[in-house]
Amino acid sequence: VRDVDSHVAAATSLVTRLPTERVPLASAVGRVLAADVVTTGDLPAFDNSSMDGFALRASDGVAERAVIGESAAGRPFDGTVVHGQAVRIMTGAPVPAGADAVVPLEDAHEAAGVVTVAAAPAHGAFIRRAGSDAQAGAVVVEAGVVLTPARVGAAAAAGAGAVEVSRRPVVAVLSTGDELAVLGGALGPGQIHDANAPLLAAALEAVGAIPMVLPHVGDDPTAMLDALTGVEADLIVTTGGASVGAHDVAKAALASRGVEFVNVAMQPGKPQGLGVFGGTPTVCLPGNPVSVAVSFAVIVRPMLRVLTGQAEPLERRAIAARGWGAPPQRRQYQPIRWLNDGLVAPSAAGGSQSHLIASLAAADAFAVVDADVDEVREGDTVALMELLG
Ligand code: AMP
Ligand code: MG
Repeated sequence: VRDVDSHVAAATSLVTRLPTERVPLASAVGRVLAADVVTTGDLPAFDNSSMDGFALRASDGVAERAVIGESAAGRPFDGTVVHGQAVRIMTGAPVPAGADAVVPLEDAHEAAGVVTVAAAPAHGAFIRRAGSDAQAGAVVVEAGVVLTPARVGAAAAAGAGAVEVSRRPVVAVLSTGDELAVLGGALGPGQIHDANAPLLAAALEAVGAIPMVLPHVGDDPTAMLDALTGVEADLIVTTGGASVGAHDVAKAALASRGVEFVNVAMQPGKPQGLGVFGGTPTVCLPGNPVSVAVSFAVIVRPMLRVLTGQAEPLERRAIAARGWGAPPQRRQYQPIRWLNDGLVAPSAAGGSQSHLIASLAAADAFAVVDADVDEVREGDTVALMELLG
């Protein structure tokens, strides 16, 4: 039996970083950024007003000022404000030369070209300073992160029309099993719908990889070998037949062709295959769908991170609102749901059993319970793993 960390290390050592490519920012969401986005100018680009009001000199105190013009967003005032003067200004508009404070409309009164203010303004009031968000030359989005909408916005503000990202990994997905029916079709005796290929395809899409779903094969090693031979992908992921039974097709097909089958000290997900088939890194997952979801998050996801140069996620923790049992000597992945206030609870009564795919729909994440813990008690702190790793 191999411990989880050793197995994940073996998996990630099979892959190397993919090349990068330049894509328009408009189509970059979800991609892993491969080079820092640096802002060419200051953000904000110039001193500007945070309110509609009057730009003026603070040292004039409460004295009346003559209104000499207007500064609107995109249409700056191009003169200079001297003592006794003010410029009407809109939110986001450049603060004119000479002005050093803004008095909001509601604290001012304008009549016959003269503005009076209720109180003496403070120097710098209601002015957003150039470079106060980021200075020219600063990194605004760091390489290794996934481009979220907020990061796309930051990159756009920094003037990046295109960004350097890692190529999306292409991942071949193959389900095996004589019992599998075509998705959505009628079920014959003993048949089940293939849950694994859609689950994996969705997980791959969700983390920015490109799924290449192959038509499922039965428990026939020759059919499996035919399906995988010549596949052009960065990674192959199969499900089912990874154990030691009489019909374990993946083991029969691939054990003598570069894939090693081992028991990993995890629950669910114990039988695992790992290796290189036909030059392509290959992961053979067990058949039960919850095992597939957990194995994706634990084993496949870190491989995708290496392929794309994505930084490791922070480990999150939460407090168990209720206790549950954990198997001895295996790291447990217990489906949980979020309560409020940082509390979590098992999302289904059946615990971490590997066949409970319908119950997994209610889960928000997995709690990760160390191999040497055999019971989680109410109030214990538990580590969390996202459903997608
Ligand atoms: P196996 O590892 O092939 O022995 O499969 C273990 C269990 O997972 C069996 O109950 C299979 O019917 C089930 N299983 C295997 N592949 C799939 C699949 N693609 N979708 C849903 N269940 C599956
Ligand atoms: Mg099977």
